[in-house]
Amino acid sequence: MIKYLLVLSVRFGNNVRATDVIIDLVLTKAKAYIDKEIVDCSLAINDGKIVKIGKEPNMPKAQAKIDLKHLLVLPGLMDVHVHLRDEGKAYKEDFYSGTAAAASGGITTVLDMPNNDPVTMSAETLRNRMKIAQEKVLVNVGFYSEFPKNMKEIKPIVEEGAVAFKLFMADQVGGLNIDDDNAVLEAFNTVSKLNVLVAVHAEDRTELKKAEEELKRANCNDISAFLRAHSEKVEVKAIKRITKIAKQASIHIHFCHVSTENGLKTIIDGKKSGMPITCEVTPHHLLLSADDFKRIGTLALTMPPIREKPHCAVLWNGIKNGWVDVLGSDHAPHTLQEKKLEIVWSVKVGVPNLETTIPLLLTQVKKGRLSIGDVVRLMAEKPAEIFNLKGRGSLKEGNCADITVVDLRRKFRVDASKFHSKAKYSPFDGWLVQGKPVKTFVNGRLIMDEGEIVANAGSGSIIRS
Ligand SMILES: [Zn+2]
Repeated sequence: MIKYLLVLSVRFGNNVRATDVIIDLVLTKAKAYIDKEIVDCSLAINDGKIVKIGKEPNMPKAQAKIDLKHLLVLPGLMDVHVHLRDEGKAYKEDFYSGTAAAASGGITTVLDMPNNDPVTMSAETLRNRMKIAQEKVLVNVGFYSEFPKNMKEIKPIVEEGAVAFKLFMADQVGGLNIDDDNAVLEAFNTVSKLNVLVAVHAEDRTELKKAEEELKRANCNDISAFLRAHSEKVEVKAIKRITKIAKQASIHIHFCHVSTENGLKTIIDGKKSGMPITCEVTPHHLLLSADDFKRIGTLALTMPPIREKPHCAVLWNGIKNGWVDVLGSDHAPHTLQEKKLEIVWSVKVGVPNLETTIPLLLTQVKKGRLSIGDVVRLMAEKPAEIFNLKGRGSLKEGNCADITVVDLRRKFRVDASKFHSKAKYSPFDGWLVQGKPVKTFVNGRLIMDEGEIVANAGSGSIIRS
């Protein structure tokens, strides 16, 4: 018996002791993406962590075993740009429906944007939001905060666990006066000491409102007017302004949903100068262009808007050359009524993307435009690194057991009416895609199996900085 235990303890290494050899779960017959290679292996999971990766005969005894049938196993994919709504905007989405959409889409961690009702911009609103979320979420959820009016409130917000600050420049959302360079610099200086990054929606309000008012006066209220108002110039001006202020504060700036050629070029220039700048693109800016408005109309309206085709090509190049760091879905659900209005200025901007992003990307893998390594880099490795999400972003022993299992052969049509999200529309509705998330594990627990949610509300966890 002593000899038997000794053998066990050697075989199981340091992570599992001989005395507690029955672990929670073993996943067998995985084709797992580990260290830039796809490896045939099994994964042992205990207490929410990956405790061993190896050959099946070497796995510890487990209470449950799941045969993954040689499907591709990726580190849990993360979406760092999600509007989960809830609270005052729960009619559009709530923590349960939004995270069910995430799990269904193969996403194990989301970061929630602060433009809620109430706006997340104090320790109290953040604490309350986390409390409500804890009871409902199915995946890991971290939270952004907008900047408060009083800079003294920044530190308590970080202490409460905000993962990052969001600076929305197209309109006044938070407490910080976005038109005041000195106030923005003061906010950046405060944040730089706290080791938290600032994510920026870069559209210059002054430039944007000026164009918008002129168009309204001329009674131009259609999509083309919206595109003219939300011009490339509006994006570039905001990026330049923020880069200039950020330089004085030596702070990490992360530009959300970059959409134009010169926007990306300005960011690349900043990166080349050695500034800690990162950026994100979205599936809609990569895969849709202004031509698609003819077909989809205001349903496809986002901010910044989808652009003329040449911009898409530049964004794809940015991915290929490694300038684009992250792919975020900018899941921004609204009701159909809010999306279908005559006057374009009244249409709510944003599309639900949590359930389409991974299939759309895997389809691009099939087409040879992306590699599996690109998908993992853009949606797991880089998000974990940039947002400092420790223990996530790669499959390795000791990391959290966040796992996305995909079937690369599975073809299907996007059917928005079947979304778990409350927003049952998509600019990608009806698209034929290949590559489907079939199992989502969050902290070692199976949350989604073949499109069905198999865990209880509250199974996910709240991520604090
Ligand atoms: Zn957004």
